[in-house]
Amino acid sequence: MLDVLGYPSVDALVDAAVPAQIRSTDGLRLPAARSEEQVLDALRALADRNQTRVQMIGLGYHDTITPAVLRRNMLESPAWYTAYTPYQPEISQGRLEALLTFQTVIEDLTALPVAGASLLDEATAVMEAVLLMRRANKSSKSNRVVLDADCLPQTLAVVQGRAEAVGIEVVVADLSQALPDGDAFGVVFQSPGASGAVRNHAPLIAAAADRGMLTTVAADLLSLTLITAPGEQGADIAVGSAQRFGVPLFFGGPHAGYMSVRSGLERMLPGRLVGVSVDVDGKPAYRLALQTREQHIRRDKATSNICTAQALLANVAAMYAAYHGPEGLRAIATRVHAHAVALAESLRFAGREIVHDQFFDTVTVRIPGGAHDIVAAADRAGINLRLVDADHVGISCDERTTDDIVRRVLDVFGAVPVTSGDIVALPAEVLRTSDYLTHPVFHRHRSETAMLRFLRELSDKDLALDRTMIPLGSCTMKLNAAAEMEPISWPGFAGIHPYAPATQTAGYRELIGNLEDWLAEITGYDRVSLQPNAGSQGELAGLLAINAYHRSRGDVERDVCLIPQSAHGTNAASAVLAGMRVVVVKTAPNGNIDVDDLQAKLSDHDGRVAAIMLTYPSTHGVYETEVRTVCDLVHSAGGQVYVDGANLNALVGLAKPGEFGGDVSHLNLHKTFCIPHGGGGPGVGPVAVRAHLAPFLPGDPMNAEGPAPVSAANYGSAGILPITWAYLALMGPDGLTAATKTAVLAANYLAASLADRYPVLYTGESGLVAHECILDLREITKRTGVTAEDVAKRLIDYGFHAPTLSFPVNGTLMVEPTESEDLAELDRFIAAMVGIHDEISRVDSGEWALEQSPLRQAPHTAEQVTDAEWTLPYSRQYAAYPVASLRRAKYWPPVRRIDGVHGDRNLACSCPAPEAFQTEPTLQEAFA
Ligand SMILES: *Cc1c(COP(=O)(O)O)cnc(C)c1O
Repeated sequence: MLDVLGYPSVDALVDAAVPAQIRSTDGLRLPAARSEEQVLDALRALADRNQTRVQMIGLGYHDTITPAVLRRNMLESPAWYTAYTPYQPEISQGRLEALLTFQTVIEDLTALPVAGASLLDEATAVMEAVLLMRRANKSSKSNRVVLDADCLPQTLAVVQGRAEAVGIEVVVADLSQALPDGDAFGVVFQSPGASGAVRNHAPLIAAAADRGMLTTVAADLLSLTLITAPGEQGADIAVGSAQRFGVPLFFGGPHAGYMSVRSGLERMLPGRLVGVSVDVDGKPAYRLALQTREQHIRRDKATSNICTAQALLANVAAMYAAYHGPEGLRAIATRVHAHAVALAESLRFAGREIVHDQFFDTVTVRIPGGAHDIVAAADRAGINLRLVDADHVGISCDERTTDDIVRRVLDVFGAVPVTSGDIVALPAEVLRTSDYLTHPVFHRHRSETAMLRFLRELSDKDLALDRTMIPLGSCTMKLNAAAEMEPISWPGFAGIHPYAPATQTAGYRELIGNLEDWLAEITGYDRVSLQPNAGSQGELAGLLAINAYHRSRGDVERDVCLIPQSAHGTNAASAVLAGMRVVVVKTAPNGNIDVDDLQAKLSDHDGRVAAIMLTYPSTHGVYETEVRTVCDLVHSAGGQVYVDGANLNALVGLAKPGEFGGDVSHLNLHKTFCIPHGGGGPGVGPVAVRAHLAPFLPGDPMNAEGPAPVSAANYGSAGILPITWAYLALMGPDGLTAATKTAVLAANYLAASLADRYPVLYTGESGLVAHECILDLREITKRTGVTAEDVAKRLIDYGFHAPTLSFPVNGTLMVEPTESEDLAELDRFIAAMVGIHDEISRVDSGEWALEQSPLRQAPHTAEQVTDAEWTLPYSRQYAAYPVASLRRAKYWPPVRRIDGVHGDRNLACSCPAPEAFQTEPTLQEAFA
């Protein structure tokens, strides 16, 4: 590889590529590398220091049983967890079908017609609903939203903090009787309430509608199998968490948040939405719908900043519903309810006061002055109850609650079980009578054999890292090592409730403390918060910290966020959500920030500049030499420097953003630090800051005193932090630095090997790229009509996932090989790109008409190349096997090229009827 590049050593190459101005001199002070055995032993010791309990705290987190067939073949299966967000729908049909199943679960249970493919957690989903209500309620002039006082406390904390940033006034009101006086654009109800109380919200929903307000119900998904759905009660929006559908507690996350809306609101829905469209043959095919609402296209006008969401967890929840079916879910809910009823009855019999007569799974007991003692006694009995306040204890039942657990809880109260008949403690007017989950997908996979094969059938349709490199620029699709993944399902990590007392979570706290320290050392910052559960949330947390810092100094006028033209779409969307105005800074002809334009913008907005958000290395894959100058200019104008750290795979061990001018950065643990992408989430987006911003990092959602949180759980997606801990412990300082150098070597090797055929758009002063390179197809497109998309789709026939398409520059492909791909795989990719270039030449020379070329016809399905008819000017063999190695291992896409526009015009976002897939007659039938 070095010979191709003409450098004598990797160090010489790296010295030439990375500007001396940013190079870190002091290395990484991190523990030395350990073996996989040692790291797993250390993690086992940490897991052992977390104490598992029977978890009955509730508050939106309920213990659940992950069916082993799902845990082993989905949650722990690389075919599912190493996949990328399904932007290339032809190689993503399996996980798109699974996400569509998730949407159908949500649509059915909430009785609202359109659901998205997951949000980050329940509390942020409520905030998204608040923003949606404000956007959608054009007739209301009000800036107020009313929140049910019985909302989950973490929901109140997240919404209050984020609403303040965008100037929304939050009124928290007791909604058990009436709406508060005054205008509001929307109301949020919680069902059941945090207290456990179940109420019929229909009258107040109707009253709110009469007063011109939109309504949202934050609903527990399992309860909806027994309780009238939000849609049936008249709500416009339903939100919540799908955690208790088979996803472990994970000390707070990752879990899928959900949102569904009535028709008319679907084009404003935040986050990803899977829809049904057709391929060129008119066969039904899935793809992401209505992407024009999203941050990567709409930037500061997007419906939200969400990019990475919780795809893997949504898929687990979908399959949990498919495995149990409607009858199974109803049976689980009925059992959960019966246990709660038994607890309430027996406690009442023992003379205890139960606060609400009507509840689903949670009872609140009044124990004047005795709550602390009861919670402590329960702890000694191995049970976590919720300490509501000095006088009240909450007890939540879940799928794991047994008669024996009920007996042990009663014992803590000095009560004994009394048996009652089939008593239901739900208001008669909310008992659900409508059907749900009637689609065959919820009936056909109810045995383990059937489910196992269904999961295999779906994942076989997809390309993930277990089959091929995924050279997506900006996404860093590197190895997710098996040893890093193993610990996440250990009960010592998976079984911990996010609000368990600190005494029970010593292992997690040590792991988190280590990670915070290590990431601070790697980035050159002073403090790190692991709370944000995606890169986009890290951006928001960082910008909110910048806001709070300016305000703390009386600098209240600063509201401008400078963002380079080439920035990732989340940057602009996050700035808006932080209440800032976006001002775009131009790109110079060499791809770098245009320093003259920056200076002009700084003086145009003198005294108003809050921050600049720059990505380093830039989204053009280049180490810009003048980054220090840019930082100095912004600092001297009184602004803060936000360095988007998504490209840290080009920096670890070589340079530290906190040293070359950054005040704050987010990192993507699901890129640089080995958390798998899960087909579009989970993610972790820690925010790292210099000391002056540390007081403004996100606070604990359970502590009303501190700064506002950005997620429902204090440590966000804590359950997957062991992956990054393991990675850093395995690599050590030398390994991490070597990985960065290898990533730079691989990117430059690809760039140099392909540059003759596909010009590399931007390079640094040395003519080298950083960890990725942009291949410019625009000249080819102009000459031949062959587009970057054609190349991306033809790569599928060659067995590859496409590089990043048309970001950050339209008509280009951005390639990031990472350090994880060996020379053989890099050469296989080069061979594919060379082969494709030959095909382009044959279009160029007129040998093939573009429409009849393998490029435009790509991808080719098995059905197409075995069809009786074949009229294309190249052979069937060439269509399927353009290089010989494919004869050994061939990936067949299940559909041909998908028509996205058709699906957007005819929006369908739930599982289609099976008849839609009725295929052509078989040969036998045809000749019969
Ligand atoms: C991936 C990425 C983000 C957003 O991260 P998510 O985790 O998807 O929210 C932001 N900036 C850049 C440059 C990225 O590549």
